[in-house]
Amino acid sequence: MDIPRGNIIVMDRRRGKLRVGQGLIQGLKVVWDHWAGSFHKNENFSQIHGTFTVEYPDERLPLPQTYRNMPVLLYDDESGHELCTGCYQCQRICPPQVIHITQAKDPVTGKMVPAATEFIIEYDACMSCGFCAEVCPFDSIKMDHVYELSTADRVSLTMRKAQLNRPISYYASIAPDLWAEVQAGAMKKLQGSIKRRPDVIGLAAVLTEKIKARRLELAAAAAAAPAAAAPAPAAPAAPAAKLTPEEKAAKLAAMKATNANKGVAAPPAKAPVELSPADAKAAKLAAIKAANAAKQAGAAAPPAEVPAELPPTDAKAAKLAAIKAANAAKKAAEQGNSE
Ligand code: SF4
Ligand code: SF4
Repeated sequence: MDIPRGNIIVMDRRRGKLRVGQGLIQGLKVVWDHWAGSFHKNENFSQIHGTFTVEYPDERLPLPQTYRNMPVLLYDDESGHELCTGCYQCQRICPPQVIHITQAKDPVTGKMVPAATEFIIEYDACMSCGFCAEVCPFDSIKMDHVYELSTADRVSLTMRKAQLNRPISYYASIAPDLWAEVQAGAMKKLQGSIKRRPDVIGLAAVLTEKIKARRLELAAAAAAAPAAAAPAPAAPAAPAAKLTPEEKAAKLAAMKATNANKGVAAPPAKAPVELSPADAKAAKLAAIKAANAAKQAGAAAPPAEVPAELPPTDAKAAKLAAIKAANAAKKAAEQGNSE
């Protein structure tokens, strides 16, 4: 900053002759000017006479966005999820080794989850270098602007995760341009982390109400899951799929109705068996043989009528007719022998 100097009083003692006490008076005038000017508050640094003191703590100078004091951890205002994934990069880079992280684990599977169950920073030994904030790939750890941390209690400067947590909105208020630069990437990475976090893992500990609500939400989802997973009733079966009992019953009823319309007696109460084309051919052959036998025996029983072309659906009726004709032919032959 360019600070212009005020007027410089040059005391040239070689030129002319100073009267007795003149130097003293001029010196006192300088002191007087400065003392009188101290009652005047300067607006900027270009004014040399006056006070430059900021009336702290009533007044504070605005801090630049890049100001750094102590590191804090961010969490999302909306979801309550922390941006930290417990990747240990900040812990590794910290020169005085004051960061201590415990990675979260899935309570069911025991696998690592992208979140930190505990995150401790020893503020009393942190040197505000900002390395941790620079190296964090998830923009989770940021340098705070709060500098009034003096205390006589050293232990209270060991900050845990609950004390380090700050909402993103807070950081966006103190460093809007810096946050705008990384916001898109940080939020995208956070969504990826949330997908891999079971239960309430990764939620900011300060948001107890949100955690409770989240637990209730998960419980409701778990209760609704079996109902959603139940098979849909009366779903049409695929041609090659195995028939369910309901489908079998429906098919049987349909066949019975078809037979009743044709005037044919309903088949015995057993699972409908559809004859293959080979069986239909055999049934047709048996009917022809039975008719020929009845003819030869000269029986009165009417020969079985041979259907010209049997569709697969009539194969069973043809088979029955063939059996009947064969029985009739047998009877006729027996009668002929006895005569
Ligand atoms: S600011 Fe520096 S010293 Fe402090 S926690 Fe981060 S890396 Fe460590
Ligand atoms: S604060 Fe950042 S660097 Fe440190 S563990 Fe969390 S995600 Fe990793």
